[in-house]
Amino acid sequence: MSKKSIDFGIDLGTTNSTIARLDGTEVHVFKNNEGFEFTPSVVWIDKKDRIHVGRRSKERLEEDTENAYGEFKLQMGTNTEYIFHRNNRRMKPEELSAEVLKSLKADVKQQIGEEISAAVITVPAAFELPQCKSTQLAAELAGFTTSPLLQEPVAAAMAYGFQSEKDKVFWLVYDFGGGTFDAAIIQVRDGIIEAVNHGGDNHLGGKLIDWEIVNEIFVPALTKKYKLTKFKPDNKKWKSAFAKLKSAAENAKIRLSREDSVEDLIESLCNDDKGEIIDFSYEISKSDLERIARPFVIRSINICRQVLTEKRLGMGDIEKVLLVGGTTLIPVLRDMLTDRNEGLGIPLESSHYPLTVVAKGAAIFAGTQLFEEKPDKVSKDQFVLELDYKPIGADEEPLVGGKVIGSEISDYTGYTIEYINKDSRPEWRSGKIELNPEGGFVTNLWAEKGRKNKFTIELFDSKGTKQKTVPDSIDYTIGMSIVDSPLIHSVGVAMANNETDLFFEKGIPLPASIRKVHKTAFEVRKEQDGDLIKIPVVEGENQRRADRNRLIGYLEIPASKIKRTVPAGSEIEISIKIDSSRLMSTKAYIPILDEEFEEVINLKIQNVDHKKLDSDFELEKKRYEEIKNSVGDSKDDKTREILDQIENEKMMHEIENSLIGMNGDKDSADKCQNRLLDLKIALDKAEEESEWPTLLKNAEDSIKAAKEIIDKYGETDDKKRFSILKDEIKDIMKLHEPDLLKAKIGQLDGLRIQVLQEQPGYWMGLFESLEEMKADMHDQSEADQLINKGRRAVNNNDLDELKATVKQLISLLPDKQQQIAIGYGGGTIK
Ligand code: ADP
Ligand code: MG
Repeated sequence: MSKKSIDFGIDLGTTNSTIARLDGTEVHVFKNNEGFEFTPSVVWIDKKDRIHVGRRSKERLEEDTENAYGEFKLQMGTNTEYIFHRNNRRMKPEELSAEVLKSLKADVKQQIGEEISAAVITVPAAFELPQCKSTQLAAELAGFTTSPLLQEPVAAAMAYGFQSEKDKVFWLVYDFGGGTFDAAIIQVRDGIIEAVNHGGDNHLGGKLIDWEIVNEIFVPALTKKYKLTKFKPDNKKWKSAFAKLKSAAENAKIRLSREDSVEDLIESLCNDDKGEIIDFSYEISKSDLERIARPFVIRSINICRQVLTEKRLGMGDIEKVLLVGGTTLIPVLRDMLTDRNEGLGIPLESSHYPLTVVAKGAAIFAGTQLFEEKPDKVSKDQFVLELDYKPIGADEEPLVGGKVIGSEISDYTGYTIEYINKDSRPEWRSGKIELNPEGGFVTNLWAEKGRKNKFTIELFDSKGTKQKTVPDSIDYTIGMSIVDSPLIHSVGVAMANNETDLFFEKGIPLPASIRKVHKTAFEVRKEQDGDLIKIPVVEGENQRRADRNRLIGYLEIPASKIKRTVPAGSEIEISIKIDSSRLMSTKAYIPILDEEFEEVINLKIQNVDHKKLDSDFELEKKRYEEIKNSVGDSKDDKTREILDQIENEKMMHEIENSLIGMNGDKDSADKCQNRLLDLKIALDKAEEESEWPTLLKNAEDSIKAAKEIIDKYGETDDKKRFSILKDEIKDIMKLHEPDLLKAKIGQLDGLRIQVLQEQPGYWMGLFESLEEMKADMHDQSEADQLINKGRRAVNNNDLDELKATVKQLISLLPDKQQQIAIGYGGGTIK
């Protein structure tokens, strides 16, 4: 079977989608039926049950709210269903995305007369694994048999880098679209583009600005003038009105990229409480928009800074910022970005139109990818060649290897093969290369820059007669290629103690696979309803607290699937594989059952529990106030910095608005959950920072207490260990590393207790305090018995007996931890 390069690239955007094809060194962006290079990703079902995609569907979002949907990309990987009320049809996000893909495919077919079956499809770098999986499904539904996924920022960088002469530079891709934000550092080196770090937010896009315009400008103006009861977007009655307002807000925002102020009118917006029609006129100025957009831009800048800091890169190390996504057309955003203090102070690059640059890059990447189209029709007198080469590369003299396959000839001695670059002047020939007896050969080609080079292939048999081959030519273009993209977030397993066991570290090259052995933390009884081995898989960087990461799915083995009871403490081998499109597959093997469970993961973004969101937010609000109060006027810079960040990004405001349903979008709850997680992480950090002085004092106290005990009772080894730990702690105290310091204090306390535990006095003291706690114990008669036993042990100087009794007494105390599932309810432990 001969291979050919995919060549087609698709940007399947939240707001708009585009398809492009690589033609040599140029990229052709296809126009849709209406003459636009991008098609709104909106699906509408009309009265005759026909499915439409594009601009007209987008207009229906306002009037026909129950039969038109957009922004479904943000729901990819969830269980959400979209109900088209007219025909009661339910569609999943991937089915809707498939309709968009089909529409792009149809545009191509109309123009080139060809039904394509392979295309590279881009996804945001910040997409999580379930979202990638869902995108792959959409491609299959749309009839693509081959559809590698590529990260959007990498695609954008390819468009800029493909024919660029630059080398040894870093670029920052800044992609602010309609629904998501991505930042990526790209390194260009030796003709290869590599994404070295990523960051992003799946809930940061231009539509948030649209909603703020609605909530901050339109709604107050309307409710001041008219009586409109419960005027909120999640109220069915006002759905159409809010859809119109949102669309007006978007239009105004776009116009304000060119004009200083916008005045307009929405005729028959809705009827007020008295039933009178409202014609709503409004005016928005550029400065209104700037005020509203600012917190969102700040958030994006903070993400860029973080991405740079993680790689220890400064602004000066970055040659330019590549602007991608429609929102980057807002002038104030560009001003803020170039500002040295407020922004990044790095020159901006926007020579490619920000709405189509991703599709262009996807097409270029598609040019580097080979696929097997369909089996060749081979006639008897043809020789089939299996070739190994890269269709695009930085090399002017690329290597091509190959082999003749499937013929009846047993010895190819005397056969030769030649490559000819006919378009070069003068014509270039490889010379006749001899095949080895098995039909194999390898050679270098020579290619010209700036065009697609076509090499015809000539095969001669041992008598010097020319033979036909399949394929009879190959193409090669000199241009940047990319190395496999790295993993965006670390992936691990949340364990029963709410720690994360890291499986894949952020930044490792894909594909990757790993197998680890855990132990089950609970017994799972055969066929016992509700019993199951539950292994939560998380994406994120917090290893200490698993529930500070995003839960992306569970690896589950229910009791119904096991043939015998699995006792607590049984081994379980967990294998996870992630391929270069970020598609994940998993396996679990339980040795005592000798059974393997395949694809046990249910990779879905978890549904949001609204009550929990509410109560969680209440807790975090309190924490926020407490930290604010504790900092007071003090000059605790680090804590202050974090509190300022929460303030400047308006985190509380955003969460609050989402909670009270002021944002009518389907992804509102998910966004709220993400933002709440961001807030928790920020507050954790702030708390740690504000605790730093206390922590320093604890460290001093801990050293003092340990010294006293170890001087008195410690052996030589204990003294050595103490001295090492003490020095380490002193060093960390200078470094400002709260996590590390806490861990070391824990170790030092452990050492002190260990030494103490060797002393009878310690157990005596513990026993006495337990006697005082007797009333709290849950079995009073057993407590009495144990206390008597303990007293006897004391009288008999029996230290072992005393230790055993104390431990039993402790187990009678109410134990808050017992049986309470913590974090994500993980069921295993390392
Ligand atoms: P996506 O990647 O989400 O499909 P796009 O890159 O197509 O997004 O950008 C769409 C977003 O850009 C929308 O929020 C749209 O309102 C906004 N946008 C498009 N053109 C402009 C403009 N000229 N000025 C400001 N915002 C714009
Ligand atoms: Mg985009």
